[in-house]
Amino acid sequence: MNIILLGPPGAGKGTQAKRISEKWSMAHISTGDIFREEMAKGTPLGARVQEYVNSGKLVPDDLVVEVVLERLKKDDCAKGFLLDGFPRTLEQAQSLDRHLRKMNREIDLVLNLALQPENVVERLSQRRQCSKCGATYNLRTCPPRQENLCDACGAPLLQRDDDKAETVRKRLMVYQDLTEPLIAYYRGNGNLEAVDAGQEIDAVSRSLNEIISNH
Ligand code: AMP
Repeated sequence: MNIILLGPPGAGKGTQAKRISEKWSMAHISTGDIFREEMAKGTPLGARVQEYVNSGKLVPDDLVVEVVLERLKKDDCAKGFLLDGFPRTLEQAQSLDRHLRKMNREIDLVLNLALQPENVVERLSQRRQCSKCGATYNLRTCPPRQENLCDACGAPLLQRDDDKAETVRKRLMVYQDLTEPLIAYYRGNGNLEAVDAGQEIDAVSRSLNEIISNH
């Protein structure tokens, strides 16, 4: 099955995508993770996207689409993939549909993690990420056992540059202007299902798994 996970920043897409892809054996494709890895490794792609990512702006559509299409060619996507953080504009969605059609593939399900804007700001300001393994924490709802250290690997936790207050507001505006219209686009295609992302993490997972198993 091929799935898109939609939702504003901070809705829990990364956490839920990891759980779904493991449970249902799908390739997890997070464009944000790909860009952060390329930036950390100092590759030419990382250098091209750095300014956009750090300021909360969207990376240009043609570049993101190219990265995703390359990723979709890999073997692990053959039995199913989960897109997390892509598409983020109508142009990206239309381009994805065109390319999938050529590959004789399609999106089976679009899962929208719905969250109110005030909760977005609150969640992102509390989010911390492991500097080594990428595990995410929320200082209020899911804190690490030892202050500022990752439970899984013991490395220090950091706040993403783009989770700082000013950039969060910018990302939210970008989401509302450019990404939210995708909800109507996919609703029109008839394969959109929404879940309340304000619930506890496990409750959100249960709702998502129920939708996937009924599909
Ligand atoms: P995320 O981790 O999904 O919040 O993505 C972090 C940043 O990566 C975003 O704020 C954008 O700068 C960039 N990015 C990730 N996915 C996309 C996309 N589909 N289109 C454009 N920019 C993206």
